[in-house]
Amino acid sequence: MTRIAFIGLGNMGGGMAANQAKAGREVMAFDLSAAALDKAKAAGCAPAASVAEAVKGADAVITMLPAGPHVRQVYAEQVLPHAPKSALLIDCSTIDVESARAVAAQAKAAGFRFADAPVSGGTAAAEAGTLAFMVGCDEPDFPAIEDIISPMSRVTFRAGDHGAGQAAKICNNMVLGISMIGVCEALALAEKLGLDPVKFHEISSQSSGQCWSLTSYCPWPGPVPTAPSNRDYEGGFATAMMLKDLKLAQEAAAKAGAAAPLGAQAEGLYAVFDRLGFGSRDFSAILKLFRGDLS
Ligand code: NAD
Repeated sequence: MTRIAFIGLGNMGGGMAANQAKAGREVMAFDLSAAALDKAKAAGCAPAASVAEAVKGADAVITMLPAGPHVRQVYAEQVLPHAPKSALLIDCSTIDVESARAVAAQAKAAGFRFADAPVSGGTAAAEAGTLAFMVGCDEPDFPAIEDIISPMSRVTFRAGDHGAGQAAKICNNMVLGISMIGVCEALALAEKLGLDPVKFHEISSQSSGQCWSLTSYCPWPGPVPTAPSNRDYEGGFATAMMLKDLKLAQEAAAKAGAAAPLGAQAEGLYAVFDRLGFGSRDFSAILKLFRGDLS
């Protein structure tokens, strides 16, 4: 039986680890949060007492951690010293390209195969096993990576070599951050103009305003039952995480000499919203800013 070590069982990792267990794999799970670990246990994973214990004897190690520093630390201090060299190492967190390349180089030097494999689709797709994966890896390793990823994915792309998965992800999330703000501005304007926002959703979903932020993740409660707007913006993709990704995109743009002015505007708006105390709420809650209702 394939043995998976799953590290990081938060909003995304919880559902992803559960799908590995559902697929009949033996999942050794670890998170710093006892509540997250209990949830994983209820979903069929075996709780481990540490990363070192989880990775023991693993065929693959999957990490789903908040940001670059967590990934660098967990790999350097715990995964690389304790996992078997045959284990396939797959980091699904969204982190900066430099950290992804640094961890890949360390893993390779230690004799491991490594992939950066960030995901898109949100918590509903994490639970349903329908995420899109963007993989940066050595080409010969891709089929084995695809096989490990399969219970969690709808589609998997090899974006290129190490770091290319993260490059694809931060560009994608810059589109997402900008489009969510556009959708929120339009919904708030529709309301002000006396147009029912739900009716606007119906119309624009079939018109040229159609986009994922509107049709799959509508920030207005009602039209998309799985969207965090229906549960007071709890869970989902935290504002602080979106802000992190927009910062990553701006840093990458500055280093590459690329212009990304709308990405910069989106970063500024999410920074304000974060400062107002909404860092842990889903990023679609930024609708509140445009409605002038911060309750
Ligand atoms: P989260 O904060 O809900 O989960 C992260 C988990 O990592 C937490 O449970 C935390 O306790 C755990 N953790 C932190 N440090 C750890 C350590 N040293 N050892 C073990 N566990 C540790 O975050 P999330 O929403 O699940 O996001 C995880 C990653 O996925 C982020 O990089 C995020 O940008 C990315 N992402 C999130 C979404 C989304 O919709 N939430 C979508 C795509 C990508």
